[in-house]
Amino acid sequence: MNARAEPDLVSLPAREIDRAPPLIYGPVQSRRFGRSLGVNLLPRGLRLCTYDCRYCQCGGERARHRRRMDPPFPSLALLERELVEALGTDPAIDDICFAGAGEPTLHPRFREAVLLARTLRDYWAPHATISVLSNGVAAGKATVRGALALADRAVLKLDAARDDLLHALNATPRGLSVRRLIEVYASMIGIETQTLLVRGAVDNATPDAIDALGEALRFIHPRRAHLGTITRAPAVTPVYSSMLPLSDADLDAAATRLRTIAPGIDIFAY
Ligand code: SF4
Repeated sequence: MNARAEPDLVSLPAREIDRAPPLIYGPVQSRRFGRSLGVNLLPRGLRLCTYDCRYCQCGGERARHRRRMDPPFPSLALLERELVEALGTDPAIDDICFAGAGEPTLHPRFREAVLLARTLRDYWAPHATISVLSNGVAAGKATVRGALALADRAVLKLDAARDDLLHALNATPRGLSVRRLIEVYASMIGIETQTLLVRGAVDNATPDAIDALGEALRFIHPRRAHLGTITRAPAVTPVYSSMLPLSDADLDAAATRLRTIAPGIDIFAY
C-alpha cells in the first residue's frame, strides 16, 4: 500500500479532471485499476447523481434528476467516436471505467454504452477490463442489474451499514434503507463494494460503524470490498470544517477488523 501522509490541516488537493470530466478522460493512474480510461456518461456541466455525498469531488451544477432544459446525455454515436479515438491513440490501458460526474447508470442507454465499450475494448485493448463505479441505488432494477453484469467489475457504494450514517454521509434519496440496499447487493453475483471512511462531523469509522459494515459485508459476500478514505478535496464542503481523512494506520486497522468479522472476503484497503 502506498504511504499516505497523516491528516493535517493542509487542504487536500483537487484535480480539474474530477471537477469537470469530459465524456472520455485520462487515462488516469488508479491504485485499483491501473491505467484507467474514464467515461463520463452524464450531461456536460451537471453533477447528476441520486446521492449527494459530502465528500463528492465532482463539480458542476448538482442535480438528482435531469430537467428538460439541461444539456442532453451524450449519444452513443459520440461515445463510440471518442472511445475509438482514445483507444486508437493509446491502447495500452488496463481498464475502461464508467464513473465521471455522477451516477453512470442514469444514462438512458447505459446498457448499450457498456456493450459498446466491451466491443471496442475487445478490438483495441482486449487485455483491459471494463469497470463501473455506481452508487448502487438502481441496482434493484432488472435493467440496471443486467447492465452491471456486463461489466468485468461492478463496484457498488456502501459507505455505512447504518441508516443514520448513510443518510448523513450520502444524502440518500427518500425511502432508501440500508437493509434494502444490502439485500439487493446480496442478491447480485460477483459484485464488489466500495466504502469511503471519514472522520469529523460524520464518522463512519467508529468501532460500532465498522462492526455493522462487517456484518453487512458478511451477508453480501462481495467478490472484493474496497476500503478507502478521502484523498482529494470535495467540490462543495470545506473538507476540514466537516470531515477528515483516516490515517494509513487507521485505515489498515479498519480493514483488519473487517477481515475478522467477514472472513473469506477480499478486503482491499487502498
Ligand atoms: S455517489 Fe459519487 S458522484 Fe454521486 S454524490 Fe456520491 S461521490 Fe458524488
